[in-house]
Amino acid sequence: GPRLPGRARGGGERTFVAVKPDGVQRRLVGELVGRFERKGLTLVGMKLVQASEELLREHYVALRHQPFYSQLVKYMSSGPVVAMVWQGLDAVKTVRAMIGETNPADSRPGTIRGDFCTDISKNVIHGSDSVESAQQEISLWFRPEELICWEDTAEHWIYG
Ligand code: GDP
Ligand code: MG
Repeated sequence: GPRLPGRARGGGERTFVAVKPDGVQRRLVGELVGRFERKGLTLVGMKLVQASEELLREHYVALRHQPFYSQLVKYMSSGPVVAMVWQGLDAVKTVRAMIGETNPADSRPGTIRGDFCTDISKNVIHGSDSVESAQQEISLWFRPEELICWEDTAEHWIYG
């Protein structure tokens, strides 16, 4: 039957994930979406986006003083990205663990960056680093009506 929104799917924690332009070009979208699906997270939003430099400057505003900031904005706007919202128990921490470290060389095999890339400037995927930044990023990339709350019939097999 219907469930209270606050109790649904691991407390309803959501995180923002984006397959970066190199991940899209390298045909990794299915592989990466498959990893989050198999983990048991719930997909609540997904779209292919050609992001503007303006959106990306806002997305990475905390890094605006870094020497690589303009290179980063150019890279992220160099082709389409797949923007997603995944929900579940400790979704932010879980996705970051699955992604690995910022530098692929520090990422263990088995993580996404450990398995699919070598260079910090082409590191395939983004995941929010905290619940607060996840909320900011989700509202930057998605309109509320683009996030779908659906009945997950597998949740009794995923949660205790
Ligand atoms: P993330 O949260 O692991 O993605 O890492 P950060 O938030 O620290 O940095 C955001 C993104 O900026 C990274 O994913 C990389 O794409 C890029 N980046 C970080 N450090 C460097 C760097 O030293 N050089 C370049 N070119 N890009 C970087
Ligand atoms: Mg970050």
